[in-house]
Amino acid sequence: MSYRIAIRFYEELNDFLPEKWRKREFELCFSGKRSVKDLIESIGVPHVEVDLILVNGESVGFDYIVQDGDRISVYPMFEMLDISQVTKLRPHPLREIRFVLDVHLRKLARYLRLFGFDVLFDETLDDAKLAEISSRQRRVLLTRDRGLLKRRIVERGFVIRNTDPRQQLLEVFKRLNLWSLCNPFSRCLECNGAIIPANDVPDEHAIPLGVRQWCNEYFRCVQCGKVYWKGSHYEKLARFVNRIMNEGNFFKNGKE
Ligand SMILES: [Zn+2]
Repeated sequence: MSYRIAIRFYEELNDFLPEKWRKREFELCFSGKRSVKDLIESIGVPHVEVDLILVNGESVGFDYIVQDGDRISVYPMFEMLDISQVTKLRPHPLREIRFVLDVHLRKLARYLRLFGFDVLFDETLDDAKLAEISSRQRRVLLTRDRGLLKRRIVERGFVIRNTDPRQQLLEVFKRLNLWSLCNPFSRCLECNGAIIPANDVPDEHAIPLGVRQWCNEYFRCVQCGKVYWKGSHYEKLARFVNRIMNEGNFFKNGKE
């Protein structure tokens, strides 16, 4: 049996296509049954770059068998579109997003952790190691160094344009549309470990006396043991979190 389908690739996926097929819908004819994954890779687009496939408007998995007359839309991981509710490609979509940051982005690393994102930051890692970790652990590599992203094994990452850490944070939020994926105050700013409520009041030496007098709710990092409580520093960070979340409302409204 022969098949005729219409297909379109979005955003960065066009980099893999010949000029005549870029940023437009085009028709393909082929014979024999094939999965949408085979079809996409036969066109030259690596399936690891793909985060969402719509066939006639419905999300499908890689094993979907293409039918005659299908209209197929293929989206990359970095398409700025919140697809967490519709994608069927993977049980855990790539957009459960994790990062590795270069040595110049210490403050950005802390800010991303403040919003609950898994961020690997280690000043002892050289460029080769950062690239390897990004590839092996599928972490988005954020860097101020364009050369670092030219390494062949890096599949996902981008250059941070801003120098101010707060602007850098907004830059990443906008690029990846992170607002719906935030879980503020769930991760240790120091070590990236998870923060959980501390059942007991921590040892005296971990808490200043002035705090112990009013505070009876503590949190602890499961990894490094650092104790957190909702003091004045927390209030300051909470205001910052609210400001960034409000930017999300402006950003989304602005797009419509
Ligand atoms: Zn910690």
